[in-house]
Amino acid sequence: MSELAYPYEAPASQALFDRAAAVTPGGVNSPVRAFRAVGGTPRFMVSGTGPYLTDADGREYVDLVCSWGPMILGHSHPEVIAAVQDAVSRGTSFGTPGEGEVALAEEMTARVAPLEQVRLVSSGTEATMSAIRLARGFTQRTKVIKFAGCYHGHVDSLLAAAGSGVATFALPDTPGVTGAQAGDTIVLPYNDLDAVREAFRAHPGEIACVITEASPGNMGVVPPADGFNQGLKDICSENGALYVSDEVMTGFRTSRAGWFGVDGVVPDLMTFGKVMGGGFPAAAFGGRADVMAHLAPAGPVYQAGTLSGNPVATAAGLAQLRLLDDAAYAKVDAVSKEIQGLVTAALAKEGVAHRLQTASNMFSVFFTDRPVRNYEDAKTQESFRFTAFFHSLLADGVYLPPSSFESWFVSTAHDERAVQRIADALPAAARAAAEATA
Ligand code: PLP
Repeated sequence: MSELAYPYEAPASQALFDRAAAVTPGGVNSPVRAFRAVGGTPRFMVSGTGPYLTDADGREYVDLVCSWGPMILGHSHPEVIAAVQDAVSRGTSFGTPGEGEVALAEEMTARVAPLEQVRLVSSGTEATMSAIRLARGFTQRTKVIKFAGCYHGHVDSLLAAAGSGVATFALPDTPGVTGAQAGDTIVLPYNDLDAVREAFRAHPGEIACVITEASPGNMGVVPPADGFNQGLKDICSENGALYVSDEVMTGFRTSRAGWFGVDGVVPDLMTFGKVMGGGFPAAAFGGRADVMAHLAPAGPVYQAGTLSGNPVATAAGLAQLRLLDDAAYAKVDAVSKEIQGLVTAALAKEGVAHRLQTASNMFSVFFTDRPVRNYEDAKTQESFRFTAFFHSLLADGVYLPPSSFESWFVSTAHDERAVQRIADALPAAARAAAEATA
């Protein structure tokens, strides 16, 4: 076993991490789980109940990650588990159409007015990748605008970050993505409509779509400025391009109709994942029926999936969505506000400069005293304070996202006891943030 970097680290997790590193690159199946941004040993979780996760060392944590969003009813919700068990008892995959996927699509389209038709897939990455292909196929154009700091999964053409200035053509952000794949992506600063107008002026008739997180949570929480999403929609409409709203994170979380339910801006295409899968791999893209009609087998744009519309995943997602009524959202919003208040109060008491930013019940803390409107702003925060804050909370049984560039998530299961544990842990964490040095 390797030497423990932190005194309170969990030996059983460390032993698993060592085993994992031998058979899996970096010891994890998704990079952020490796704790590289904060250091220390990633906790290997063995079970989850309500607002709590229990790790391999038997320590319990209040979970403020909620599997990066999906677990909006908390872990092991009895009705979701029952729906899954019922589905599993009838088989795990048929490779044929089934009623569960129809019911899930009906539930989604009933909640989100612009979603006239949906196609189910298995991950958010697949959803955005397919939406981009469809937008290109529909418009017969090649270029795509995305925003720096917005994450849309590990789609080749979307793994491109901003250069400086307006309308910078993207360079690949990772080896393995070719210049050609990234070369049709235009990366612009978030919340800057002038940059979008300029890009359309520079490339008349070439831009297939603008894709944006409906309200970004992948650079920390940076909501759209008033009128930004509507502006995007208008510019797209004026230029014959599609407005693609990525609601993988916000969908069915920020309201019963996701971020569309908050700002009412009507996208041409939308993408979903996370909450709609109830903790299983289910995701979707959809929108205008005339655009979706271009998708195979109705139209020429090919897209497919062996496990798409999987009966267990759709049963979990449908059970979760059906439990997400107005009362459930009111509860998530209320507990989110309560925790936000506790966090700000604790940091303010220690004189720690910070900005708590929200998008309905999603929130995150930036260790800076300036508003964060885009990725450049987000990068100016004092991340070393987050690291100290994170490890203090972890030691006291509160599990935050292991990076300062992530949203925090709560659930209907975060009750008084869970909130009290957070309240008890915050003073020491705020002190650690105040005392931290770069
Ligand atoms: N889009 C957004 C907004 C996301 O937050 C994510 C994942 O966090 C994705 C797409 C990719 O989803 P997945 O991880 O299911 O591939």
